[in-house]
Amino acid sequence: MDNNNLVKTINSIAKVIKENRAYLTDLDQAIGDGDHGINLDRGFSAIVDKIEDLNDKDCGNILSTIAMILISKVGGASGPLYGTAFMRAGQIAKGKYSLNNEDGLAMFDAAISGIISRGKASRGDKTMLDTLIPAYEAYKAGVEDNLDKENLIQNILVAAKNGVDYTKTVAAKKGRANYLGDRSIGHQDPGATSSYLIIKTIIDNLAD
Ligand code: ADP
Ligand code: MG
Ligand code: MG
Repeated sequence: MDNNNLVKTINSIAKVIKENRAYLTDLDQAIGDGDHGINLDRGFSAIVDKIEDLNDKDCGNILSTIAMILISKVGGASGPLYGTAFMRAGQIAKGKYSLNNEDGLAMFDAAISGIISRGKASRGDKTMLDTLIPAYEAYKAGVEDNLDKENLIQNILVAAKNGVDYTKTVAAKKGRANYLGDRSIGHQDPGATSSYLIIKTIIDNLAD
């Protein structure tokens, strides 16, 4: 993936978030305050307004610029968390105009560490991490096993999707849904869902 591809991918993410704005918001209505889709769409729409300026920048610059926009526009829990994730990924991509799997793995790892250090959640707490960590593990294992692109993509998507489904089976330990205790069981986590949509969109752009 090169810097122009990255800009294109971010545009695609913004589009997918807009298309899923009501869906993400409905999920958050059930176990939170009903704003997750609205929050993310606000942030990604602001990114789209700025994205033209980013076309010739390096990948690190692009990612840290969008991280700042997410932090300032999204708000709630997810804004600082996704903002930190993109910021950390951007630090790894600093000065690079193209990214390979080694970069991708290091960026994904840094993004997850950023979310954990900011939000203090663990895998299994019914958050975005329940999608991101299994997806990262599938990506890492697939690269180590030299999987071809098609199988690598498939494994990552299955792991991410299973992570989303897993969130339905547990009670939330972090975020607003935590106030519901066991009443959050049976509901799919909105942040885990948006993370799945983001991963799927990145992969769809890589597959093109
Ligand atoms: P808010 O709950 O402040 O309204 P959002 O609705 O935008 O924020 O985002 C909620 C999502 O954020 C949750 O579904 C969950 O996935 C994620 N989340 C909340 N707290 C944490 C945390 N401490 N660590 C990781 N993810 C979290
Ligand atoms: Mg919310
Ligand atoms: Mg909120």
